[in-house]
Amino acid sequence: MKVLVINAGSSSVKYQLYQMPEADVIAKGLVERIGEEGASLTQTSSGKKHEIAQPIADHEQAMDIILAALVNKDYGVISDVSEIASVGHRVVHGGDEFSGSMIIDDKVVASIEKFADLAPLHNPPNLTGIRAAQHGLPNAKQVACFDTSFHATIPEVAYMYALPYELYEEYRIRRYGFHGTSHRYVARKCTEVMGVGKYDANVITCHLGNGCSMTAVKNGKSVDTSMGLTPLEGLVMGTRSGDFDPAILFYLTDKGYSIKDLNTLCNKKSGLLGISGESNDMRNLSELAAKGDKKAQLAIDIFAYRVKKYIGTYTAVLGTLDAVVFTGGIGENAVELRAQICSDQKQIGIEIDADVNAKTRGLGCVSTEASRVKVYVIPTDEEFAIAADTYELTK
Ligand code: ADP
Repeated sequence: MKVLVINAGSSSVKYQLYQMPEADVIAKGLVERIGEEGASLTQTSSGKKHEIAQPIADHEQAMDIILAALVNKDYGVISDVSEIASVGHRVVHGGDEFSGSMIIDDKVVASIEKFADLAPLHNPPNLTGIRAAQHGLPNAKQVACFDTSFHATIPEVAYMYALPYELYEEYRIRRYGFHGTSHRYVARKCTEVMGVGKYDANVITCHLGNGCSMTAVKNGKSVDTSMGLTPLEGLVMGTRSGDFDPAILFYLTDKGYSIKDLNTLCNKKSGLLGISGESNDMRNLSELAAKGDKKAQLAIDIFAYRVKKYIGTYTAVLGTLDAVVFTGGIGENAVELRAQICSDQKQIGIEIDADVNAKTRGLGCVSTEASRVKVYVIPTDEEFAIAADTYELTK
C-alpha cells in the first residue's frame, strides 16, 4: 500500500512516498518558494535527484506538480496517482481535542481551523495542504497527524499555567506541547533498543533542532514537555528565546516596543541568534567559538545549561529515570554539546562515554556500561511515524 506523507509549510511542501508496511521510501521531495520567485520542485528517487524550476502559484499547483513528478515517465515512481491509497498530513496544532492521529473529516478540519489562532504560521498552510491533497487525490484517504497529540496525556497539574482559571475556560490557555511525533517515535525506538516493552521505561527525550523541546515520558506516555501554548516556551532555540521572565515584555512595552516587535523579538531574533549576534546555526557557532568568539561560546553554554536544567526537572517529575535520548540535527550531531549537557550528572546517574560519544552521529548508546541512566542518540523520523499512523488507520 502506498502512503504519501505531506508536510505543508507557508511557502513549501515536503513529501515522501512510502511503500507500507515495508516502510520503503519510494521517493521524496520538496517544493520550495511557493508563490515567490524562483519556485522549484526537487525529487529524489533511487538515489537520483531531479529538479524542476517553474512558477508555482499556490499549494493546489504545488500538489499538481508533486503528483505529476511522481508519475513522470522518466523519473517518476508510480504509473498512476490512483496507486496512492492514503495521505498522511503533518498538522502542528490539534489543541486538546486529539490524543492520536485522525482520519480527516469535517470535524477534524473544523478543529484545525479553530486552533489556527494558536499556530498562525502552521495550521493555515497545513490545512491548505490537506485541501490540495483532497482535490488532487479525491479517492485517497486523508489522515492528520498532530504535533500536539502525543502530549494529550500530560496531567492537568503540568499543563495548567498559574494564571486566572478563566483564561483556560475562555481561551483554552494551557500547555499543549509540540514535536510530539518526534518525541513519541524516539521514545518508542529507545525502548526497542533497550529491549524492554514500550510502556516499561521512563525516558527524557531531547529534540534539539532549529526548534528544540524536551519531553518527560513515563511508561510510554508524555507527562510533561517544555513547549507550551506555542512553541516559544522552554529551551533555547535557533531564534526563539525559550523561558524568560514575562515581566521583561511589560518593561520593553514601557520602552516603546509594540506587541508585533516583541513577537518578532522572541520568536525570530532571540535564542542562539540573539545571544551570539551571529547565527542561529549550531555548526556556525561551534566554529566561531573555536576561534575565540565569546558570545558564540556563551550562546552554546546557555543552550546546554538549559537542557541540563530540564533533565534535572524532568528527573524529579519522573521519579526514576531509565534513559535520556538525543535527537534532531543538534542532538544527533553536536557531540561536544552532548558531552557538555551530560557532564557532572553523577547524582542523576548519567555518565557519558567520552570516546563513544565523540564518534556517535547516528543511532547509538553513548553512556558508559556503569551509567545507571542510559544515554542514546536516536535519529528522529517524523515522516515514517506519520506514514505508520496513516497506514494503521487506513489499511
Ligand atoms: P529542523 O528543526 O529545522 O528540522 P534540524 O533538526 O535539521 O532542524 O537541526 C538543525 C540544527 O542542527 C542546526 O542548528 C545545525 O547547525 C545543527 N547541526 C546539524 N549538523 C550539525 C553538526 N554536525 N554539528 C553541530 N550541529 C549540527
